[in-house]
Amino acid sequence: MEIKKVGVIGCGLMGSGIAQVCAQSGYETVVSEINEELLNKGLGMIKAQLAGSVQKGRLTKEEEEGILSRLKGTTKLSDFNGCDLVIEAIIEKMELKKQVFSELDRICPKHAILASNTSSLSIIEMAAATQRASQVLGMHFFNPVPVMKLVELVRTIATSEETMDTVTKFSKSLGKEIIIARDTPGFIVNLLLIPFLLDAIRALDNGLASKEDIDSGIRLGLNHPMGPLTLLDFIGLDTAYYIACAMYEEFKDPKFAPPPLLKQMVTAGWLGRKTGKGFYDYRQEG
Ligand code: NAD
Repeated sequence: MEIKKVGVIGCGLMGSGIAQVCAQSGYETVVSEINEELLNKGLGMIKAQLAGSVQKGRLTKEEEEGILSRLKGTTKLSDFNGCDLVIEAIIEKMELKKQVFSELDRICPKHAILASNTSSLSIIEMAAATQRASQVLGMHFFNPVPVMKLVELVRTIATSEETMDTVTKFSKSLGKEIIIARDTPGFIVNLLLIPFLLDAIRALDNGLASKEDIDSGIRLGLNHPMGPLTLLDFIGLDTAYYIACAMYEEFKDPKFAPPPLLKQMVTAGWLGRKTGKGFYDYRQEG
């Protein structure tokens, strides 16, 4: 099956990046949000990204116009009725994701593939909300999507070979490299990353060192591009919290339990870069 039109559900941090990359790679793309205000905010992030690329000489003005002409925003799921592939990128809550999958199953053409960008949740549970489990898989992109090369494809026990082949080809057409994982919480990358990030929060909370020294230790000692607390601010502390909760719920292993400090920061609305404050303060950056 050839993919021509792509749908993206959710135009937050990840959905906006996924929609941008799809439109940039020549696909007709439709992206949705829950209301006009959030849709305009998400589309605004894409426009700002593209304008930045034009300014830096990475894109021409004509290319920018071409990308924007292929990109359509909506607040109605019915606008996904012509899509060959829909990638869900809403918040990390299973009940909401299952609802979206069930509605997409009703709306999308029979041949359409439905993918989730979930970081940790069970793909087969979302597939079970549809009548097309063989055409459901995980497509786990990384943040920021236009920059990060990897897509982790998640294959359930029901995903067909044909679906895997089509989505592998599609992911490569976006300029991405793929890895394939089984449908277990956290897949490959987050299974290893999440305990590490939670340990960094515990170390800070226990007074081991300052946040700057914890980050510098990992950056300079292990040659990571950024330290774990800076990375948490990038990911979004709410998203990290939901992922940790989902993984703890599944494995019941204390290494996945969200530390109280993380929960407190989420409750306070300190969600990282997206709200201007997390472990670090970004409000001066605007
Ligand atoms: P986000 O909070 O920035 O964006 C989620 C968006 O989804 C919000 O704008 C929200 O309004 C919207 N939304 C909620 N319900 C919706 C619906 N029914 N229809 C349309 N839009 C809806 O979160 P994010 O960081 O973009 O995460 C989205 C997904 O991607 C999550 O499953 C997360 O686990 C996963 N993910 C996140 C990262 C990361 O680094 N943040 C990386 C990989 C995967």
